[in-house]
Order: sequence, then C-alpha cells, then structure tokens
Amino acid sequence: MKEKIKLFRESLRLAWESAPGWAFANIFISVIRSFLPLILVWLLKILIDNITKAATTGSGIPFDNVLWIILAVVVVYFLDEASSDFSNYVRKKQSLELEFYMYGLLHSKAIKLDLINFERPEYFDCLSRAAREAPWRPNNILNNLVSMLRGLLSLLLMAGLILTLQWTLAVLLLVANIPGIWLRIHYAGILYNFQRQQTPEARKSAYFNWLLTGDRPSRELRLFGLGNYFIDLFKKSFLKQKDEEINIIRKRTLIELISNLFKASALLITLLFIANQTIGGKLSLGQMAMFLLAFRQGMIYIKDMFGSMAGLYEDSLFIGDTFEFLNLKENVTAAEPVVTPYPLKKKIIVDNLSFTYPGNNFRTINNVSFEIKKGEIIALVGPNGAGKSTLVRLLCRLYDPDSGAVKYDDSDIRNIDPEEYRKLFSVVFQDFMLYNLTAGENIRMGNINEEKADVRVKSSAATTGVHEMITNLPKGYDTVIGNLFDDSRELSWGEWQKIALARALFRDAPVLILDEPSSALDADTEYDIFSRFREIVKGRTSILISHRFTNVGLADRIIVLNKGAIAETGTHDELMKRGGIYFAMFTKQSSRFSV
Ligand code: ATP
Repeated sequence: MKEKIKLFRESLRLAWESAPGWAFANIFISVIRSFLPLILVWLLKILIDNITKAATTGSGIPFDNVLWIILAVVVVYFLDEASSDFSNYVRKKQSLELEFYMYGLLHSKAIKLDLINFERPEYFDCLSRAAREAPWRPNNILNNLVSMLRGLLSLLLMAGLILTLQWTLAVLLLVANIPGIWLRIHYAGILYNFQRQQTPEARKSAYFNWLLTGDRPSRELRLFGLGNYFIDLFKKSFLKQKDEEINIIRKRTLIELISNLFKASALLITLLFIANQTIGGKLSLGQMAMFLLAFRQGMIYIKDMFGSMAGLYEDSLFIGDTFEFLNLKENVTAAEPVVTPYPLKKKIIVDNLSFTYPGNNFRTINNVSFEIKKGEIIALVGPNGAGKSTLVRLLCRLYDPDSGAVKYDDSDIRNIDPEEYRKLFSVVFQDFMLYNLTAGENIRMGNINEEKADVRVKSSAATTGVHEMITNLPKGYDTVIGNLFDDSRELSWGEWQKIALARALFRDAPVLILDEPSSALDADTEYDIFSRFREIVKGRTSILISHRFTNVGLADRIIVLNKGAIAETGTHDELMKRGGIYFAMFTKQSSRFSV
C-alpha cells in the first residue's frame, strides 16, 4: 500500500511537472462542475413548483418570474455542458503535454541504460510495458483523482439533499453500487496479471507482425515464400492472448449484469417511496422531481466516484511498470576516483579480461591479456564466434567485464566517465547503422557537435570512395538516403558501408576500430583504402577486425582469438612461421586464389 501511494505521488508529480498550468485548469474546472448539477436540480424544483402552483391555483404568478427561472435553468444547463466540453479540451491538452514529457523521460532513460540490458529479454518486456503505459497513465491517475474528488463533492451535495427526505435512501444510494465497485477492483488485478504475464507473447506477435510488414524481412520473406508461415505464427500468438483476454472480459460482463440488478432494485425502492410520499401529499411535484433527479444524479456520481477509485487501483498496478523502467539502475558509470579522459599517451592494456553474456553458461571472453601501443595498428582475427566483436565492446566500455580490466594508459576505464571515454573511440560496428537522413548527416553523425563540417565531411567521403556517388545524387550531400521517406534514394549495401567508414574517419578520435569494414566493398575500393591504410588512419591507434587476410597483413601485430582466448600473437611473418591457426586460416584462404 505504501509503495502504491509512493507511485501515485510520483505520477501526480509527473502530471503536474509536465504542465502545471493545464493541470491546475483541469482541477479548477472539475471543482466548478461539481456544483452546477445541484444548482440545476434545485432550479428545476423551483420551476416545477412555480408552474404547478400557477396552473392549479390560477393565482397568476407573474410569468416574468417563471421566465427568469427558465432562463436561469438554461444558463446553468449551458454552463454545465460548456464546462464539460471545455474540460475535455483541457484534459486533452494536458495529456498531450504529459505524453511529450513522458516520451522525453523514456528516451533519456533508454539512451543512458547499460547496453547489457539489450541482451536480456526481461529488459524488452519491461521496456514494452513502460512504453505502453508511460505516455498516458500518470494523466489517468490525475484525471481519476480529480473525478473522484469531483464525484465525492457532488455526491455529498446530492446525498445531503436526499438526507432531507429520508436517510435510508442516501444509504441505499451507496450500498447499491458496492458490488459493481468490488467487481472492477477484482478484475483490474486479474487483467493486470494477465497482461504482465502476456508481455513476452505480445512481443512475439509484434515481432511476427514486423516480419510480415517490415522492409528488411520483405525480400527474404518473398523469396523463401515465408509469408503464410509467419501469418500462421502471428495468428497463433495473437489468438493465444486474445482468447484468454476475451474469456476474462466475458466473465466480468456476466457478473456486471448481476451488479446492475442491485442498482435497478435500489431505483425501484426509491421510486416507490417518492411516489408514495407525493401521492400522500408530503412532497410537492417540484420536490418529487428534485429528489428523483438527485437520486439519479447521485447514482451517476457514485458510479463515477467509485469507478475512479477502481481506476486508481488499476493505475497503481500499471504505473509500477513505468517506474520499474525509469528506475532501472545504470552500472556502467565512473567509479571513484574519477579520472578525466585525455588523448592516449602510451598504451591500452587488456588485463586478464573475462566476460559472460547474461543467460550464457560459458565465457565469451576468457582471461584475455594484451597491449596496444599508441599509434599501433592491431589486427584481430579468429573464427566466427571467437569473441572479436565482444572484445571491441569491452574495449569501448559498452559492457563491464566479469573480471580483469581494460586500462587506458594507467587508468582503469571504470574510473572514467563512460560517455567521455567513448569520445576517444571511433568505431565501425559489424552491424553499423543506416540513418534515413541526408548523406551529409550520415557522415556528420560521427561527431554531430562539429560545426562547419562540410569540408571534412567531403574529404572523409572522398577517402572512402563515396564522394562522387554522393555528388551525383539529386541533392548531393543534402539527399535523404534510405527508402523510408519521400524524395529519398536507396543505396547499395557497399555504398552504405563506405558511408559508415566515412563517418568513422570523420570522427577525430584517437582510437579507431573497424569491425569487418570491407565485407561489402568492391575490390577497387578495398584495395584503394587498404593500400593507403596508414595514411588514412593518420597515426591513430587502430584495431582492425577482418576475415580477409590480405588486409590483415598490413597490421603491426596480429592477435588471433579462438574460443574467447588468445591463441597466438605476432606479425604476419612470425605467425606464418609458427604454423598455427593463423597459418592454417591464411593458407586455406590464399589457396583459393593461387589455383
Ligand atoms: P564473427 O566473426 O562471426 O563476427 P566474433 O568473433 O565477432 O564472430 P562475437 O560476436 O564476439 O564473435 O560472439 C562470440 C560469442 O558470444 C558467440 O559465439 C555467441 O555465443 C556469444 N554472443 C554474442 N553475442 C551475444 C549476445 N548478444 N548474447 C549472448 N551471447 C552472445
């Protein structure tokens, strides 16, 4: 309970912080609206009494009097309706402000979170629940709270009115609604648990949906004729969730019928009582109308009020997911004593490094130690799955190791602020990004803060052999590339790779890491880049991961990784003489060309 109150407080803080003015307007209008129905009911009573008096006695109550009351009724009616519409506008405006604010919080959190979270399915469950709830749930809490207060205020006013007639009717008004409220609270819990448990399945259907509608899978899907297969998988996954949900809702609807019977019985008793009192002459026609309306309104308020309470209970269950995500802890941070990053002076030391991916029961990196001197070009080679890309991620501190350390000169990189530390690296990842933005922006992404970058953007593009292709695009460097947006041009995979390389070169970082940078390059471009490699890297400390041994040979030193451990190190000549793994891999590859 304490935890739920804390979540409510947090949600209300978010709703307030995102738009204080609109939140205030929302509360203010709701309070005003609590009084209007009572005034209306009271005016109607005066109106009916005046009209019946005039009609039965023929006493000739001045028509002006009746006219004024009619006018007052119409004005209050208009105010009630208009304030309802205005209130909808205010609520919408506030919820949009909050949605914007919450997306800001979600996005800031997502970009800060440790990369290791992306290796865990639980993270995606948590993210998908937070993304579903965060944009609207805090506002729902505020609205439910405001509705509850408004309902309570209106109800007290109406109940006060009914009390003047008969206290048992006021109690009946409350009791008749209890089964419905219990029902809502009970099923809120069931539905929440159901949805939480269904998150992995819901993500599965979303994934099959993407396979069927996404751009990337579209080619293979057609070629291998996988469409119907995925449609079946989607259907199974979707129906699995929906059948169960419909089952729960069907049961709830049936029990709701019974709870409505309670309310109908309460109405019956009230009608009989009021009719009896009126026939017995204890109530005037105006009073009869007033009490009937008050009872009816009271039922509505009580339903709204308890409905809002049940809604708040439901909110308290769901909002926890948003805070669960927002409160995920970042572990990749700067440990004390914090060291300010600086350009590399001597070397990077990898000291007895070990790392295991979450969920794996084996070490992907196993007691690896080596050094990279400043300005040295290192090639990292090894069979698929040897751990090369993982080692790069550890070097950039995208993950922290289980044991051992990476040292940047004499500093353990855990003592450097990760964001600042990563500025010292420029990397072309194996699965580099394609940004559906302009060609120029795609290169400038290497250092988005660099102003007046045009000349360097173009020279980086020229170095990787893509400048001419870009200038031939309809708007040159201002052409949007990719196929997502209007007026954009799709590139070949090799052209994308050249752009990714240009992006890495554009970033003026002291350490350059290229993970399979030439897998899609044509022979000319590859030859051109690798024959000038030293000139291109301009003395930067570089790590090259490649399966192409013609490129690997240019490195000062080659490190051969196998099953997460270092198998051998040396220059090309040394390793060839050694006759180990490197020799075997090199001779196999070169034998294909020497026939
Ligand atoms: P390749 O030459 O094929 O690119 P690599 O040497 O770069 O391979 P890594 O990508 O580092 O190899 O992967 C090494 C091993 O780590 C893999 O065999 C796999 O078992 C494991 N692995 C890689 N990525 C993950 C991940 N995200 N979650 C769990 N295990 C992973």
